[in-house]
Amino acid sequence: MRYAILSDVHGNLEALQAVLADTRNRDVDQIIFLGDAVGYGASPSECLKLLQREVPILLAGNHDHAAAGLTPVDRFNPIARISLEWTRKRLSERDTDLLAELPLCHVEGELYFVHASPERPADWKYVRTMDDIQAALEAIPHRFCFVGHTHIAMAASQDVEGWLDPIHHRSVRFEEEKRYFFNVGSVGQPRDGNERACYLIFDGEAKTATFRRVSYDLERSQEKILENNLPSYLAERLVEAK
Ligand code: ZN
Repeated sequence: MRYAILSDVHGNLEALQAVLADTRNRDVDQIIFLGDAVGYGASPSECLKLLQREVPILLAGNHDHAAAGLTPVDRFNPIARISLEWTRKRLSERDTDLLAELPLCHVEGELYFVHASPERPADWKYVRTMDDIQAALEAIPHRFCFVGHTHIAMAASQDVEGWLDPIHHRSVRFEEEKRYFFNVGSVGQPRDGNERACYLIFDGEAKTATFRRVSYDLERSQEKILENNLPSYLAERLVEAK
């Protein structure tokens, strides 16, 4: 099976469209979305619709839960809070119901998918350091772990003795007996210094995983943020990618 694994769209329709178009050329059997469909960007409802139509497996992120009223927005920083309050007004009742019903994690054989750390998915803990990755892998028995949430693409392998090795290449071929951790990066608001939309292709047969970076109409996304009087920092951030 070849999977396209996406995360953190954050209401950026132009980035989502570009990524979905890119997956069509890559012979993908399954698409999985790891959460945060909404928040920050100017097209929350449109992104949800497109995700629902094109992506069979959708998981919940912390912004999705906040937009659906399951988590208080005062847990977020001021800019996220403003955008979440704006987002709530833009969502239909159907959108809100859909967001509230999204599952926190998904398992397919030896693959485990979740938005934040698998330790306690509803706590939305960030996986940033090697120690965090260690804890994440200890929390589950699966060989492969896929997360989002930090908006920073990252990968590591773990040998049989538990030693972790960061993976710095864009592509990796799996070694027998090793376990793997992937942060698939962000489609709609990358923060790893590369402004192009990010996602991961995982190929179970070829035993490889490859990060993809996709250019999109970033100026249009920025215009929509400004036209809707969302904080201008959210438009700048798309270019700064941090
Ligand atoms: Zn996010």
